[in-house]
Amino acid sequence: MIEIDGSGGGGQLLRTALTLSMVTATPFTMTGIRAKRNRPGLMRQHLTAVEAARQVCGAAVTGADAGSQTLTFIPKAIRSGDYHFPIGTAGSTTLVLQTVLPALSLASHASTIRLEGGTHNPLAPPADFLIDVFAPTLGKMGVQADIRLERHGFYPAGGGVMNVRVQPARAVEPLHLMERGEVRAISARALISNLSTSVADRELQVVARRLGLAEGAMKMHEVKPALGPGNALMIRIESEHVTEYFTTFGERGVSAEQVAEQACEQAQRYIKAGVAVGCYAADQLLLPMALVGSGSFSTTAPTDHSRTNASLIEKFLSVQIDFLELRPDAWKVVIG
Ligand code: AMP
Repeated sequence: MIEIDGSGGGGQLLRTALTLSMVTATPFTMTGIRAKRNRPGLMRQHLTAVEAARQVCGAAVTGADAGSQTLTFIPKAIRSGDYHFPIGTAGSTTLVLQTVLPALSLASHASTIRLEGGTHNPLAPPADFLIDVFAPTLGKMGVQADIRLERHGFYPAGGGVMNVRVQPARAVEPLHLMERGEVRAISARALISNLSTSVADRELQVVARRLGLAEGAMKMHEVKPALGPGNALMIRIESEHVTEYFTTFGERGVSAEQVAEQACEQAQRYIKAGVAVGCYAADQLLLPMALVGSGSFSTTAPTDHSRTNASLIEKFLSVQIDFLELRPDAWKVVIG
């Protein structure tokens, strides 16, 4: 039984523990779950990840209640199958998918997963990021996941649908993503649901000005049928060796211009740093790379998410994760 103090992290620490527990068949108890957050303990979206993990490996679980700060998870064997996770209105489908995907890729047979809920939630990877960045990177390591976005779902209305097929991983290979290569194309897409299209127009105008994009590199995507209001601005940067996404979300009280400025800042920081992996993919790639046994990548300065995730991974697996500063804005992460 691995004992984990969850007080230094957020939902990601719990999701990483669930994944590692499933794939190593090691039970864990986490205490102090989200202890320092405004509303501490397990919230509905975390409980859906626990429930999904429980189903995938027939785990015995205690403490899976709203507000609980202690959870015990005792996994059994991972089972392939046809899974359906209706996450409910506001929950992020992408975070639940990331919790179970590595485990299902280690099963003996293919699995399908249908997830319903939010596909474009603030503070979570948007579905497009999983499809265009995360899954292709896993593919380079031998993990095959075909992710389809059937319907967009924004916080808080939800109603989005993602369908996924996970193949048993073939011979897995370490990935070294040190070089980005030339930036080949930058494009932007403004998603808009049940809101004035002028919001998307204003966002794209900011992107055009800040990143110097031509008209043809920008698209507005009006989501139909719209299940509720929503807006996301996604900047896609395609380079010789990798593709990255920087997404910000419209919210009440934040102007369209500010939403776009934030996305542009993130994109510009990445471009200027000359690194391969952006700040979000960095924390998400640690676990799959550690499961393969080794890997490395260049990235911007490590986030708290990356650091806490790395410490937890080192508790479950016999790997070491080092963060090496190349320059203040460019770091090398080595897993081995
Ligand atoms: P937590 O805050 O602990 O629930 O973890 C959030 C996860 O979502 C982390 O893995 C972040 O890298 C990821 N994430 C948050 N915002 C974005 C974004 N805009 N694009 C991609 N991933 C994101």
